[in-house]
Amino acid sequence: MNPLKYIDSNMNALISDLQTLIQQPSVSAKNEGIEECALLVKKMLVKSGISAEILRLKKGVAPLVYGEIKSKKKNSKTLMFYNHYDVQPVEPLNLWDEPPFSGKLKGNKIFGRGSADDKGELITRIKAVEAYLKTTGDVPCNIKFVIEGEEETGSAHIDEYLKKYKTKFSCDGVIWEFGYVDSKNRPIVGLGMKGLLFVELSVRESIRDAHSSLAVLIKNPAWRLIEAIKTLRNSEGKVLIKDWYKDVKPFTKKELEIIAEEPFDENSFKKEFGINSFVGNKKGIDVKKALVGGATCNIAGFVSGYTGDGAKTVLPGEALVKIDFRLVPKMDPKKQTQRLQRHLKSHGFSDVKIKVYHGEAAARTSLDDPFVSKVRSAADESFGTSIINVSNAGTGPMYSFVENLGAPCISIGSTYMFARIHSPNEFARVDLLKKTTKCICLIMDKFVKV
Ligand SMILES: [Zn+2]
Repeated sequence: MNPLKYIDSNMNALISDLQTLIQQPSVSAKNEGIEECALLVKKMLVKSGISAEILRLKKGVAPLVYGEIKSKKKNSKTLMFYNHYDVQPVEPLNLWDEPPFSGKLKGNKIFGRGSADDKGELITRIKAVEAYLKTTGDVPCNIKFVIEGEEETGSAHIDEYLKKYKTKFSCDGVIWEFGYVDSKNRPIVGLGMKGLLFVELSVRESIRDAHSSLAVLIKNPAWRLIEAIKTLRNSEGKVLIKDWYKDVKPFTKKELEIIAEEPFDENSFKKEFGINSFVGNKKGIDVKKALVGGATCNIAGFVSGYTGDGAKTVLPGEALVKIDFRLVPKMDPKKQTQRLQRHLKSHGFSDVKIKVYHGEAAARTSLDDPFVSKVRSAADESFGTSIINVSNAGTGPMYSFVENLGAPCISIGSTYMFARIHSPNEFARVDLLKKTTKCICLIMDKFVKV
């Protein structure tokens, strides 16, 4: 039997193993079931013939599950699967049709938190390796699994793990933890992730809230903060901080061609969100370029004074805004932070306090990297078609992998675009799990010849 046939005849086992994974809660935000889930994942790797161990940094940090299987062929290349076993919280509970950790199979869908993100993706990688081991007694290339438990809370320690286990984790290519499939069943081969700088700006004008009649005398911190953040960005979405775009790497000609080719349905996107126009009235290619390589300055939340029911005339003592900046290749979060600090100072806002929560750089695999064509042809074979995406609009720790391991990263996977990840009734589609597992097999097979 060949590995692809093995996958066809063993889908029931894949489904039941995925259900077992879903049924073990592993909410990193609440430290719920993390240790238990790490052990379960380790057990599952071993069951599939992969040697596995639990790696740790220090107390309070989620363990990382490491798996490895060497090819019997000499001088084989090494392919890494990066995944995560933690999931998002399940709230709001009342919006779930089934209990969130049920793993219930209904027709072509398996429901439950983590069914798609990321336990569904993880099971496709494990089962692809198993298919090879069970049918040939070998794997076409060396395989390493790095399965972390803090992805959903921002992968706070993955960089530390990668640094500590740099040699152990060394590899020639990384298959990223997710991969989307669009509404026309086309898998998206993703080559990059944006970076992120998350900050909190705050202003305090008085030591406590006051009666708002005193607004004739006491300055209002909310006004002050609004004036400050109004200088950061224009209404077209352009960031006005000096040198903000200075280091940005422009798109290559090839990237622009791929971006132009990538399908994007403006009208259904607008309908999905109930909007009439895009920021800066973008249209056509500019919309796609923004998604792939646009930097942002987004107000994630603004808090000051009274926002409860009814009226309350209050003059708040403090105002606070949380801002996320999406970064694109060659923007360095540290440098961008300094630019923000300089900007506020030079605009007379030295009283605005800056707290940096999180900074990570963007990463993008070159279209010329041979890994790209290998993954794409595997996707084409398994799904019948594929789409190349130069960069996802979101952020992940891809830069840490590229920097520490020097290996290109590509995302490909089984997650249907509208699989409600992070939301109630998250699901994985059985047909896509099967196609992805086969696709991973084909990648392993092609990777050996990179
Ligand atoms: Zn997620």
